[in-house]
Parts: sequence; structure tokens; C-alpha cells
Amino acid sequence: MAKRDYYEILGVAKSASADEIKKAYRKVAMQFHPDRNPGDKAAEEKFKEAAEAYEVLSDGEKKAQYDRYGHAGVNSRGGGAHGMNMDDIFSNFGDIFGDDIFGSFFGGGRQRSGGRARGTRGSNLRIKLKMNFEEIAKGANKTVKVKKYTTCTTCSGSGAKDKNAVQTCSTCSGSGQVRKVTNTFLGQMQTVGTCPSCNGEGSTITSKCTSCKGEGRVYTEETISIDIPAGVADGMQLSLSGKGNAGERGGAYGDLIVLVEEEPHPELQRDNLNVIYDMYISFTDAVFGANPEVPTIDGRAKLKIPAGTQSGKIFRLKGKGFPSLNSYERGDQLVHVNVWTPQELTNEEKQMMEKLKEAKNFQPQPEKGDKSFFSKVKEMFGQ
Ligand SMILES: [Zn+2]
Ligand SMILES: [Zn+2]
Repeated sequence: MAKRDYYEILGVAKSASADEIKKAYRKVAMQFHPDRNPGDKAAEEKFKEAAEAYEVLSDGEKKAQYDRYGHAGVNSRGGGAHGMNMDDIFSNFGDIFGDDIFGSFFGGGRQRSGGRARGTRGSNLRIKLKMNFEEIAKGANKTVKVKKYTTCTTCSGSGAKDKNAVQTCSTCSGSGQVRKVTNTFLGQMQTVGTCPSCNGEGSTITSKCTSCKGEGRVYTEETISIDIPAGVADGMQLSLSGKGNAGERGGAYGDLIVLVEEEPHPELQRDNLNVIYDMYISFTDAVFGANPEVPTIDGRAKLKIPAGTQSGKIFRLKGKGFPSLNSYERGDQLVHVNVWTPQELTNEEKQMMEKLKEAKNFQPQPEKGDKSFFSKVKEMFGQ
């Protein structure tokens, strides 16, 4: 399905101001909000579509890219809101709705409003994810299996056997809070604290759910799809909101923290955005020139080695490096030429070389202007 125009989705003109775009998004999001359209898949898609449009049009840099190149300008790098789930949308744009009907929804991970904390928030989950050079260059969608706590489906997280097994806490009458009166030398002081009987939940369970033994969550294996944007690097951490462990008794989910592990490439090395390739060419190729193929992070590429190339020469393949995670910049591939000096010679080869020993063109004649290897490297790496 062809993607719809972002301005069309939000119903604004291309010349709309940031404020107009924000208002338009608010209107569309309200209309298709899942709370108002429960179970309506089409509305959910519209809601997501609007979030994607707003994500781009509310960001000056992305908007400029979109205005110039259309969808290709903002979606080619694996980012964008199309990979967003509902939780992402709420956590990214929740503030736009302010304190109206969605306030409680956007508040703290879909907790009930009114002071009572439902259950406890689940812990964060950490996983390591291996990425090879090709995946880092293009961005990748990885499917991983993780063992984690998920909300018990039998009791919907309440931990109770059935509705009748939930009783309003008698200590706090369901408020989850208790007032304490303490006598001090200044007189009586009243403090409000969490109810010790129900831990602030406002209710107690008389009969536990048998599936989760009253915990409201079960330990299972879940398959999670993770979108890794292009340009990540070793040691980077990505946080997926709400994909961690479920909390006890209906508590919010923790986050899934993904630690990126860069797999070494058999032939290429990485220097920030640049890719470095150490290439060996034969003595004769250096003399006559050649057209070898070199590995890149995007398949193989042809390189032109001109006749008379010196060892130590560095060729630059523009734009063949890694994309930047935070900008539209892209690195280059630097090919470092090493001329291979034979280490063993047959008698015949020896005789040929002996003949060349005193030949005039074989005597080193570096030009005055030739830069040293050291200054070439410094120049290439922009230092
Ligand atoms: Zn249960
Ligand atoms: Zn209580």
C-alpha cells in the first residue's frame, strides 16, 4: 500500500506552522484514540499513521528531509514511526494531550488514577544483540526470544481467583492510604502514608488465581521483534519502553534494554563512520595498474588502481561508510594499499629481478611534494 502524504494525514497545508501541525495532530489522534475506538483495528492504524506523520512534521530536520525527498527522505534509514508501537506513541507524544481525558492513560504506564498504585512496576530486562557490519549499515529487524514475566491471562493480572476474591481493604477502606497522627512538641501532626495491609493497592485478595499463584504474572518465553536503526555502534543501549517484565498484580511493564554488540568483520574495520580496508596488491599490479574488487559493507565494489601506485596510498570510496545514527551524514571507505614484496623467489624470478636491480626507473625517486605516510593518515582521518 502506498504511503499517504503526511500533510494529508493531518489535514494541514504544507505551509502550516508548528503550532497548527500540533493542533491538527491532537485532533486526529483524539478522533482515532484507542480509548475511544476499542478493538477497532482501522482506527488504531489511523492513530499510528497520524503519530508517524507528526513524528516527522514536528521535527525540523525530518520535516525538511520529507519536504525535499518525500517518504524516501525519512524512511530509508530504518527509523521512523512505522516501527512504533502504542506505548512508544504514548511515551513520545503523551504530553501533547495534556491533562484531559487521556491524562491517566499517559501518566505512568496505564495505571489507574486516583492515588492507588496498582501492583508494582516490573523490572527492566537486559539483552545483548549481535549486529554485523551489514546490519549496522542498513538497520535491522531482529526477532529474539526472551524469558520474562508477562501479565497472567487467567486473572488479567489481578492475582485473584475471580471477582469475588477481591475485597476492599478494611484498614484503609480502599483508599490505599492511611493517616497517622503523631504527637510532637509542636502539637499533633497528621501524616499520610501507604496502607501497610494492602501495600497501597486498596484491596486484598482472599483467594488466589491458580495460574499465577496470586502474583498476577507468569514466567514465559516471548518472541519480541526489535527494530535496530542504522548506524548503531558497539556498546550502545536501546531502550524499548514497556517490553520488560510485567509487574506484580497488574503493575506496569518495565523496559527492555538492548545492548548492541558489534561483530567483527573478517576483512573490514570500523573507525567511527569510516570503514577501513587493508588491501594487498602485487608488485606488477602496482606498476601496471589494476581494477580489483574490494569488499564493502554493501557488497563488493570496483576500485581503480592507476599505474605507478605507491605502497601506502589511501583510496577513498565516498559514501561507502556507515550512516550516522543522529544525522544524515555518511562515512567513507578508506582503502589502504600495501604492495606485496615477494618473500620467496625461484631461480628464474631471481634472474629477472637481478636484471632490474640497476635499472634507472627502479630507483626510488619520491617527488618533493609527496606527503609522508604519517601526514596522509592524519589528513584522511581528519585530525
Ligand atoms: Zn493469575
Ligand atoms: Zn489498605
